[in-house]
Amino acid sequence: MQPQSPASESASRSLIKQNGGDHIISLRKQMEQLNTIGKRFVAANDRFQVHRALLATLQELYSFSACSILLKGHPIELSIIPRYPLTSDFLQAMIQSIARAASVIDFPGISAQELAIVADLDAPDELASPNQEFSSGATNIGDFLNIPLTVESRIIGILSLFDEHERTFDTDLLQLTTMIADYAAVALENVRLRERQRALWEEAEHERNRLELIISSMAEGLLITNADGIITSLNSSAQHLFSLAEVNLQQKPLTSLRQLAIATKVNWLLDFAEIVDQALAGNVVMNQELTAGIQSETVPLTLSISAAPLHDANQNIRRPIGVVTVLNDITSNKQIEKLKDEFVSIVSHELRTPLTAIKGYTQHLIRRIERRLRESHQKQQLSIPKVELPESYDLRSLNIVQSETEHLERLVSDLLDLSRVQWGELDLQYSSFYLADVLNERVRLARVSAEQHAINLDIQTQDSKIVADQLRVGQVFGNVLDNAIKFSPPGKQVTVKLLENDDEFLITVIDRGIGVSPDSFDHIFERFYRIRNLANRQYTGIGMGLFVAKAIVEAHGGNIGFSSNQDGGSTFFFTLPRVPRTSKLQV
Ligand code: ADP
Repeated sequence: MQPQSPASESASRSLIKQNGGDHIISLRKQMEQLNTIGKRFVAANDRFQVHRALLATLQELYSFSACSILLKGHPIELSIIPRYPLTSDFLQAMIQSIARAASVIDFPGISAQELAIVADLDAPDELASPNQEFSSGATNIGDFLNIPLTVESRIIGILSLFDEHERTFDTDLLQLTTMIADYAAVALENVRLRERQRALWEEAEHERNRLELIISSMAEGLLITNADGIITSLNSSAQHLFSLAEVNLQQKPLTSLRQLAIATKVNWLLDFAEIVDQALAGNVVMNQELTAGIQSETVPLTLSISAAPLHDANQNIRRPIGVVTVLNDITSNKQIEKLKDEFVSIVSHELRTPLTAIKGYTQHLIRRIERRLRESHQKQQLSIPKVELPESYDLRSLNIVQSETEHLERLVSDLLDLSRVQWGELDLQYSSFYLADVLNERVRLARVSAEQHAINLDIQTQDSKIVADQLRVGQVFGNVLDNAIKFSPPGKQVTVKLLENDDEFLITVIDRGIGVSPDSFDHIFERFYRIRNLANRQYTGIGMGLFVAKAIVEAHGGNIGFSSNQDGGSTFFFTLPRVPRTSKLQV
């Protein structure tokens, strides 16, 4: 098929070839022509429009069968733009010619097969009609022209022109064709950059939408603030929790938690604001519990809040650019905990009644036997040799029963107090008594049940009168003394000291036992620490005594602590003010 040159083609060709007197006109015309070409390329929005602009421009210079654009990249792109239907032989010949040119012009090692795979036939609309047949026409290439496409001296591809006739491509027009190729190269590079930018933007947008979806579907509440503590994001779970806590978020504008607290008159938001402040200071806050519900409820809405500072990717900036906080509703856990504690509390109460009876009757029996023994002793003064009466064995047995009952009673009291401490319901029943008496009695009972331990009691005060909760003070001392005995091998000495210092008493229990390992130092006053501390498996206990002891001592306004002894074992101590320092006085 013979290509039809456009009417304008000969005109433009003659214009460019003119010289002499027509030189100035020719130059002006050339400028106009270049301007038109430039505009065409600038207006191109995508690579197909660039191809159209290139085809239209080249058609004005040459009559040719097809042109092609090979572009570098991953993958390489090859567009073949025919001016009229081409046979597949012609197309194949084109691809082979392009591959040869490519291996010369900065496209190392590319084969015709590879190009055939990536080749894309970008036929103008009139050729793309479904009725159009691409089977007839020329099969051989008569002439071709290859021009590198360069942008800022960088080869980005090759423009190739093909014609079925020989000597189609006039070398006079090479300079102009190269200029057109440069225009096309810049336009294609722009399109490529724009496409990359659009792809990156779409990817970022997609990622942003995905993140938003994740955040909004999270079961946990998420609240994000900026560096000034101003809330910048609040997911739907957080909004739901706020509405449960009766925080009206309609208050506009949504600012910092502190301002929200003032605007809504909801106090727990102030505690929340403090957590955010801590994170803004660079600290990570983990699982801080906040009561966000109305106090009168059995178990008010309770939130567990964790907060972490947000740092800019730029490590030079020390100050956080914001805070991300995660809110969890732990009310149901609290309900279960409350139920469990109530159950333990009821069971402990039930255990106390028979224990009191056992203790009472044991004491009664002890007194009776002691009286009988005293009477027998008086009678025995006369008879020689002296015999040990059977009642002496009974008395020893009963003393052991009493000591163990005391121990059991202490465990039950610990259990009861455990839930009270947990819910802040530890009420002290103050009365006036002598501290030395409590220590004496406990040590006496301990000596009975721990016969193999030598227990020294060193009371270094004349007046040990104190106002405190007598039962609970006994409970604390009993716990500490029990531990000293329990964690000491038989035969080792335990020393108890009572000192008075200013207006408080210091009770010290020194043992020569296994001591406390350094990794337990920070934990032994924690609830149920024993259970987690497997090293102590051979000793009985549930890790409750010291937790309760600490709560009781602190409720009295005292301190509890321990230190390791140089020669082994540990020293536990606690202080008690002579008169209470707390406001819960119920004498
Ligand atoms: P329990 O004695 O039931 O385990 P406590 O709360 O009384 O619970 O004590 C907690 C833990 O502290 C013990 O398991 C033990 O590891 C450690 N401890 C307490 N007193 C002593 C002591 N006198 N010597 C060594 N370890 C002790």
